[in-house]
Amino acid sequence: MSDYTGRQLGNYQLTRLLGEGAFAQVYLGEHIYLSTQAAIKVLKTQTENYPVDLFYTEARNIARLVHPNIVRVLDFGVDSNTPFLVLDYAPNGTLRQRYVPGTVLPLSTIVSYIKQIAEALQYAHDDKLVHRDIKPENILLGRRNEVLLSDFGIALMVQTMQYQNLQDVAGTLPYMAPEQIQGQPRPASDQYSLGIIAYEWLSGRRPFQGSMTEMISQHLAVAPPSLRSIIPAITPDVEHVVMTALEKDPGQRFGSVRAFAVALEQASQFSEQGGKSVLASAPTAPIPSLKKPATPPPISLRAPASMAQSAPAGTVIGGYHGHLNTVRSLSWSPDNASIVSVSDDRLVHVWDALTGERRQIYQDIANIVHAAAWSFDGSRIATVGNDAHVRIWDFATGRLLATYRGHTGSAINALAWSPAHHIIATAASDGVVHVWDATTGQPLTIYRGHTGSVNALAWSPYEISTPYGRGYHIVSGGDDVSIQTWEAATGRGIALYRSQPARVLSVGWSPNIYSSSSRFEPATSMYNSSRVACGREDGMVEMWDTSVNREVLSYRYLSAVTTVGWSPDGRRFAYASHESAVEVWDTTTNLKLVTFSHTAPQRVLAWSPNGKYIASGGGDSEILIWVAP
Ligand code: AMP
Repeated sequence: MSDYTGRQLGNYQLTRLLGEGAFAQVYLGEHIYLSTQAAIKVLKTQTENYPVDLFYTEARNIARLVHPNIVRVLDFGVDSNTPFLVLDYAPNGTLRQRYVPGTVLPLSTIVSYIKQIAEALQYAHDDKLVHRDIKPENILLGRRNEVLLSDFGIALMVQTMQYQNLQDVAGTLPYMAPEQIQGQPRPASDQYSLGIIAYEWLSGRRPFQGSMTEMISQHLAVAPPSLRSIIPAITPDVEHVVMTALEKDPGQRFGSVRAFAVALEQASQFSEQGGKSVLASAPTAPIPSLKKPATPPPISLRAPASMAQSAPAGTVIGGYHGHLNTVRSLSWSPDNASIVSVSDDRLVHVWDALTGERRQIYQDIANIVHAAAWSFDGSRIATVGNDAHVRIWDFATGRLLATYRGHTGSAINALAWSPAHHIIATAASDGVVHVWDATTGQPLTIYRGHTGSVNALAWSPYEISTPYGRGYHIVSGGDDVSIQTWEAATGRGIALYRSQPARVLSVGWSPNIYSSSSRFEPATSMYNSSRVACGREDGMVEMWDTSVNREVLSYRYLSAVTTVGWSPDGRRFAYASHESAVEVWDTTTNLKLVTFSHTAPQRVLAWSPNGKYIASGGGDSEILIWVAP
């Protein structure tokens, strides 16, 4: 292949050769007008005998992958029959260059790399693309040493264009899954390759070696040598996770490449904490060797708990870093001691609110969990999600107590426990809200007042008297943009508030400070009734007085309002929005008291039952606990 140094391809002047692989030469290129740098990948194949249209189709497939851990394709072209790709320039080389063969990496570094690669692969798998050539040579390091997966689909592109000789697969073979060797690659094949990389970094050697035919027969039929026989310090948990990814039968591997990375991270945390074997809390846990840690996982306790009493509002006193993904839901135990939280990583975490120590993990890999909430007496936790089932867990033992299957086939968006009974209300995307007995699983009320997905619901914190009788009410809101209040026991509609045309994402019901048990005297006439509030997708927060059904407040923030909530005494009102802030207002003066900023968009907040703290979290997977005003 000719040397392209000094030549111009597209708008790029090729200044020097960066490297050469089986399919291509890669040059550093400089844009002739903008002076920006890029990597120009010149394929070692000609388009002469190949329909150019097919070539462009493949290029489009690669270019549509936009992910922080995938090398961006900036441009594509053909120059005198030679196809080339313009890629983001990754200045720090490949993981193969950084770690020469034989290097054993620290477990935490391995986990960090595997997680990033798995995220990139998961993104592509979700888009029905399989990489087929995962190896350290194809993993680049970006400017901040972040992992950038390269060569997506390029192997495929070259394979479809020309007969590929054995030499071309030589570099790939040590990482190639058995089914891929047999010509049937699938997403699980990438997981296998990633498993080989993990094995290599853990032990300093690849599981299968020898000639190409020897390697092929080992991939197909020989179990990888035990990792612990090479490095005895590797824990059985970590070994089990890697060996699961290396199962010969793709069906025996993890359900997804992300699940593999999650399991590896879990196993590594337990391994680093030296945890003892206590079976995972969830009886449905698909990874039998996952253990409950005996000692705390990493936490972010920023200040001693004793400081909290005197610390100014907004001071962070603790938090939790155990999630891998965007936090979706938070709920405090009634005794203020623990928090249950869920994120997009399919794990339900229960942790100590003040120390950040993890107590339990309920694992529900079959289900993306949308919300978790604690029962009024602290004995139960309910979780809901994509699979239309509601699961009730026993907090003391971590056991799954019951599964409610009443929502047939419809993802459940929200749940709320009754303030005084083991009764749960669950809202689904088919627009139906179920109120049911969490002990017997019997449905009590099915509310069909909404015409679109119901996204949020809340119970009145006390019983309300109406001409029909006395009982708890529920407020619900969703895609049909209405806010509705109704009787929990009968489903009888009480009020319908419809004003702004935007989807409702969150609702809340204020405490009744006039109830006879209240410690609080009415401060002003503003306290003379209860309120419901909602947060909308367009940034609107609205509040209504439920006794006169009148709107008492409406305010538009810059972005979607994902949670609204009163302090337990009703004197404060907080909301979380997508623009990364939580704001707390004084409900008597209507003055803003605190703006608490996270580094990433917020999704959820929860007041501690004693009203002293707020836990908030969202896009950056971090949950912080801070002093409430
Ligand atoms: P490949 O054909 O993808 O195996 O690339 C050959 C070599 O070129 C790699 O080993 C890297 O050293 C280098 N390379 C490939 N892509 C890039 C890029 N986007 N930025 C910087 N160097 C790259």
